[in-house]
Amino acid sequence: MTRYFLTTAIDYSNGEPHIGHAYEKIGADAIARYRRMLGDDVHFLIGMDEHGQKVEQTAAQLGVEPQALVDTLAEKFAAMWQRLGISNDQFIRTTDAMHKAGVQALIERIFERNPDDFYEKAYEGWYCVGCESFKQDAEIIDGKCVLHPTRTLEWVEERNWFFRLSKYASFLKALLTDRVEFLQPASRRNEMLALIERGLEDVSASRSRLQWGIPFPRPLSTGERQTTYVWFDALPNYLTATGFPGDGGRAKWPAQLHVVGKDITRFHSIIWPAMLKAAELPLPERVWGHGFVLLGGERFSKSAGVRLDLDEAIAKYGADAFRYFLLREIPFDADGSFSWEQFDARYNSDLANSWGNLTSRVIAMVEKYRDGVVPSGAREEVDRSAAEDIEAYHAAMNGSRGYLLHEGLQRAMSMVTRGNEYVQTMQPWSIAKRDDEDGRRALDHVLSSLVRQLARQAVVLAPFMPEKAQEAWAQIGGPGNVGDQRFGDLDSLDATGWAVKKGASLFPKA
Ligand SMILES: [Zn+2]
Repeated sequence: MTRYFLTTAIDYSNGEPHIGHAYEKIGADAIARYRRMLGDDVHFLIGMDEHGQKVEQTAAQLGVEPQALVDTLAEKFAAMWQRLGISNDQFIRTTDAMHKAGVQALIERIFERNPDDFYEKAYEGWYCVGCESFKQDAEIIDGKCVLHPTRTLEWVEERNWFFRLSKYASFLKALLTDRVEFLQPASRRNEMLALIERGLEDVSASRSRLQWGIPFPRPLSTGERQTTYVWFDALPNYLTATGFPGDGGRAKWPAQLHVVGKDITRFHSIIWPAMLKAAELPLPERVWGHGFVLLGGERFSKSAGVRLDLDEAIAKYGADAFRYFLLREIPFDADGSFSWEQFDARYNSDLANSWGNLTSRVIAMVEKYRDGVVPSGAREEVDRSAAEDIEAYHAAMNGSRGYLLHEGLQRAMSMVTRGNEYVQTMQPWSIAKRDDEDGRRALDHVLSSLVRQLARQAVVLAPFMPEKAQEAWAQIGGPGNVGDQRFGDLDSLDATGWAVKKGASLFPKA
């Protein structure tokens, strides 16, 4: 079995789960479920980034210990991912003892293999607690960080450990150039190559003012002990999840895919591979930088700063409809927008009127004309058209052209559209009026084809809408769980003899 270890970025423990977090989890979950149905041995990792000054400050404001704050938030995030049907195999937290030990082991390994990669440097500058970084003049307007105009910048003088990122510029340039699949989409790769071209600056690896974090394993020459800075704390989670420096974890390094937002592509395609190279460890195979969900439509335009309430979005039509909408409407390689108007429109046209309606009609006809048992019938033109759609679906989903989930979903839905057209063309209710052997055989043929179509639709839609696909699968009498089906078996799928059982409407009309 092919191993497939994929990850999302870990979420920062400062605030509630929002649409950006959800979009990334849902997209990565569709990939994870897709790989399982290909037959891969999948390990899907998500988690929480729980250290840093913001967590420390928020905890202080609330009058709680930082650990208590991150414990509460980890529970909230995990509960949300469960509601959204996220099928992660592991949920890492950077406050886990295993992670802390792994981070220190990674830093020690770099000290041993490439001793010059860490060095001490004193510097001073304006520091933004919101960004947890020093700000250049261009990033300061009216004495405030442009990203955090409500926070006060602090003048900070520090002596820290630095990581010699600049040393890896040519290595990174070659990596991004020679292995085009390492970072996609291509727009992200071009941004990173331009960044390298402008020159890479070394990055801080430790901080003195930071308390809430992992102790940096080696003291400064002054004897001062510092705390590991964010990059060396958060990024290694993908590695420590495997049990590093041992291999006691269920996942095995390297990861096949990191799914991250375009805002942190730089950390995953520049700093992270350089750290791994410095430690003489294998690199992840691929990094995918997805775009953002923008908010559009009337409700979001009326008042600025209104956020999308995830609970409200899930409550509206259920988790699967929300998953469907995000992955259908927002291209996984670019930005797209959510609006309540468009959500309603897609729910009604694609889900209730198209997939849901086709499913209930076909089941009703098998019940009415064949006592609920699927008759046998030969394969035909519509099966061959489905095979073409399925081929394009795989090309969009399996990484060969990137991770174009929106295109995969579009292909799956075009199979549904074809099914509805097939019903219109064949008019099974007219055939049923014929009272001869040819008519009987013709109706068997049409009903058998339709159930086969529904079965294939449930299988290809399962990575996107796992619960609804299972409901559809159970209603047509499919054996076992739809998620346990293998794409490789679709070609020979035969529903003869399945017993359909009408259930609740998949997508009740709004
Ligand atoms: Zn800032």
